Amino acid sequence: MTKDKLDIEPFRQWSPAGDNLLLIAGPCSAESERQVMNTAAQLIEHKINIFRAGIWKPRSKPYTFTGCGEKGIPWLLEVKREFHLPVVVEVMNADQLKLVLDKGIDYIWLGARTTINPYMMDEISEALHGCDIPVFIKNPISPDLNTWIGALERINDAGIRKIATVHRGFQSVYSAPLRNEPHWDLPIKLKCTYPDLPILCDPSHIAGETKYIEDIVKKALALETSGLMVEVHYKPSEALSDDKQQLTPTQFGKMLENVNFHDRRCGLASNTPEQEEVIAKINTCRQIIDGCNEDLIKVLAQRMAAVKEIGEAKRKLELPALQASRWRDVMNQCLSLADELGLSKELVTEIMDVIHKYSIKIQ
Ligand code: PEP
Ligand code: MN
Repeated sequence: MTKDKLDIEPFRQWSPAGDNLLLIAGPCSAESERQVMNTAAQLIEHKINIFRAGIWKPRSKPYTFTGCGEKGIPWLLEVKREFHLPVVVEVMNADQLKLVLDKGIDYIWLGARTTINPYMMDEISEALHGCDIPVFIKNPISPDLNTWIGALERINDAGIRKIATVHRGFQSVYSAPLRNEPHWDLPIKLKCTYPDLPILCDPSHIAGETKYIEDIVKKALALETSGLMVEVHYKPSEALSDDKQQLTPTQFGKMLENVNFHDRRCGLASNTPEQEEVIAKINTCRQIIDGCNEDLIKVLAQRMAAVKEIGEAKRKLELPALQASRWRDVMNQCLSLADELGLSKELVTEIMDVIHKYSIKIQ
């Protein structure tokens, strides 16, 4: 069962960017006071609204940098004082939450490895009862809308009304060249379920490498994202975590210029609301089509790999590549599924014929 509605406060009322796109940026991890302060000093020039940095880092591998821990909190408070920038950190359990609340950190985010785990979510939700801190909730690492919604429901049930979610992509063996598979259809479905829920995009964790960030931001903007959370480090090559996906502050500023971020902040003034609506619809459909095309090509690659293998096996048994009865069965199976899904018979026959012809050729 999914709640029909989340009981949330309108985003513009608590977002430091008001009606504009919310811009969160900062390093993956807080590493030293110098790194935190230098990065923040350069980021304020790009008019960010919130400074981010992880102090406890959930890492895939042991023996890697797992965060500076509690000692990073004063560095973040220094950013807050010196640059008048609110700060956000990730918490993974009730103890970390308590520390962060006691010290006056402005916002928390819950990471993908936390939102995937109902026990961790229960612990944090319980500890959040009676608090008023705004919470950014990242999508869980698996592409499961129910788990994502479950995380939102748990935090909302704890009485937190200042909630935004962050789309950071999903683990998948097919994500290459990206680090995480965007599955753009999932944030779209979530938006359809909860139209008032602000959905931000974290292009850094989707991308995994800086060269893909700009395109991902463009897609997110086309989908009317409510904001961005971007990893920026003053010296990414020396970063202790996620070095390949962190932009320099200068690259970050350039990226914002390239995607026309500032224009979008003010809205597309030349368009009427009706035109805006149609453009948004077109953009949404294009994103869905792009995602489907990507899936089609990936499935096709998988199918061709199996075809090659079966070809070798058939050769060993001296069987012919083309076996008419098998092909008839395959086609019938496809056509009956097409019929069930309301797809044109002609379209499916034509596509399957081309695929079959090519499969025989490579066997
Ligand atoms: C992060 O933002 O640095 C982070 C660990 O995020 P995620 O939970 O999306 O992996
Ligand atoms: Mn990171």
